[in-house]
Amino acid sequence: MDINTYDFKGKKVLIRVDFNVPLDESLNVTDNTRIKRALPTIKKVIENEGVAIIMSHLGRPKNGPENKFSLSHVKKELSELLNCDVHFLNDCVGKEVESAIANAENGSVYLLENLRFHEEEKKGDNAFAKSIASLGDAYINDAFGTAHRAHASTAIVADFFEPSSKLFGYLMANEILNIDKVLASQETPVTAIIGGAKVSSKITILENLVDKVDHILIGGGMAFTLLKVAGAEIGNSLFEEDYLELAESILKKTENSRANVVLPKDVIIADQFDNNANTQIANSHEIPKGWMGLDIGPESILFYENIIGKSKVILWNGPMGVFEMPSFENGTKSIALSVAKSTKNGAFSVIGGGDSVAAINKFNLSSQVSFVSTGGGAMLEYLEGKKLPGIAAISGE
Ligand code: AMP
Repeated sequence: MDINTYDFKGKKVLIRVDFNVPLDESLNVTDNTRIKRALPTIKKVIENEGVAIIMSHLGRPKNGPENKFSLSHVKKELSELLNCDVHFLNDCVGKEVESAIANAENGSVYLLENLRFHEEEKKGDNAFAKSIASLGDAYINDAFGTAHRAHASTAIVADFFEPSSKLFGYLMANEILNIDKVLASQETPVTAIIGGAKVSSKITILENLVDKVDHILIGGGMAFTLLKVAGAEIGNSLFEEDYLELAESILKKTENSRANVVLPKDVIIADQFDNNANTQIANSHEIPKGWMGLDIGPESILFYENIIGKSKVILWNGPMGVFEMPSFENGTKSIALSVAKSTKNGAFSVIGGGDSVAAINKFNLSSQVSFVSTGGGAMLEYLEGKKLPGIAAISGE
């Protein structure tokens, strides 16, 4: 069912959002990005005179309720952003919650307490999902960040609604649309820039992308296991021996694949994992013993910039180096600037995965790319070609 055409009038609408926001010591919200992203869906429901019943998790409570993880701390921010009253309920299931919702007026907003105060949430418990479902006439999933989890509120709850009364929220629909735009692009060339620390967490993505994109530019710590396969001396650089065989088979696969896979030709090496370490530019195949590669080098940057500049569609996941340290941020920063420039010239760009978003924010370039995904793990699994439980529960596929 489509959120744009659904008639919410007089309906109680359960909305799963991702309000897992950071709080400071006084329990004030320090970054309201996730709340802002959920506003279009909530507004749609209340402007159409439905009742918005908002549910989320916050943090990682271990044994039931803990004040520091209470969603009551989010109520004020949500109320200010929506410019209306928000009724906070002390639980997400039970008699009191049921009677408050039964008496809710059309157009009102209810915020339920942290779902993870009940251990049944993460277990995907059926009875718990049924209790949540009993509160609503319709169910919207707008929490892309948890779409890869088969939790009670993100997937199981949908079993208790007819296909005609379960839908994607705007945020979720947008994530799927934008990532699919890259994975099934008719426009070429399509370039994926893949970096980050470990090859183990990106290998399935590489495997899935080799026939969907034209170029895969590799950077970050993950490059070194692949370089080792290609016969390089990698010194003390990050290396995952257990993944050597898999890395080898993927590189072999790329010989006949659509994608041209590019490893860095040169790297910035350091004699310690430290911002103040001694550094040098080195050929990526000849890293001396005792030194480690912590960023891509100038020749690689130029080569990658050239490909990015000619690309029509760009996907970026994972930094090119240890961008948190100024001495090793240049590769990631240059690639971020290059993606921004290409976007300005008409390319479509999508950035996602926790650390790439942190990097693009660090360089204040998030407004200069086409789409920044809210899903870290969810985006990774989507790129791996997996079916996400939160999406399948609604689409039925
Ligand atoms: P990921 O979460 O897998 O995307 O990895 C992101 C992390 O990888 C960042 O914290 C980077 O500092 C780190 N990283 C990137 N390049 C390297 C490298 N060459 N050696 C060690 N860590 C790296």
